[in-house]
Amino acid sequence: MTKGEIAKPFELVAGNPALDFVNTLDNRFNERPQELLVSYAELLRFTTESGLITGAQARALRNLPSGDEERKRVLAQAIDLREALADVAYAWLSGAKIPNGKRETLEAYFKQASAVRKLWIDADLLIWRWPQKVNLALPLWTLAQTAADLLLSDRMARMRSCAKETCGWLFLDTSKNHTRRWCDMKLCGNRMKAQNYHARKARRKSTSRETKTPAQLQG
Ligand SMILES: [Zn+2]
Repeated sequence: MTKGEIAKPFELVAGNPALDFVNTLDNRFNERPQELLVSYAELLRFTTESGLITGAQARALRNLPSGDEERKRVLAQAIDLREALADVAYAWLSGAKIPNGKRETLEAYFKQASAVRKLWIDADLLIWRWPQKVNLALPLWTLAQTAADLLLSDRMARMRSCAKETCGWLFLDTSKNHTRRWCDMKLCGNRMKAQNYHARKARRKSTSRETKTPAQLQG
């Protein structure tokens, strides 16, 4: 992206930043997946839009005069973390065994994140806080922490992937009857709904003569 261009906001539809993070490899199950985290700046934008870091923290990290190598390293580690999360999540959803190597990868990032946190007292409450000193790894730590919080919670029982096969975006189904099937109705649901509608209509046409509702029978 060139300077001055306004970036399209990330589609945060998963209901959890760790799952939105996995979805940043767009069209994952298509022949040509699209990488949305193409630079450290985009990683910063994603974590800011997801509410994991503040605008002020992102600015401080963006304005650090040096550290280009470190930025590249942090981005590569974030992608490594994301792909381990993806492998674990999709294995979980398909009922397959969680790959042991990926468990180890997650463990390393989760441990790294929890090791740098400090326990603070804020308005008489205890809270976890990241180091105040500017550190380029901050977006990576926050992603690892939010992923650890989710993966080790019972919310995982609500994790689903989009019913449109080439999409496969992850989300938490928090709908009342647990019937959510799409990452987003606009992105995937409408087209699939239209297909189903036409299929139903065709079926109705062929059975409408034989079927009567209870009201019709009484009348
Ligand atoms: Zn979808």
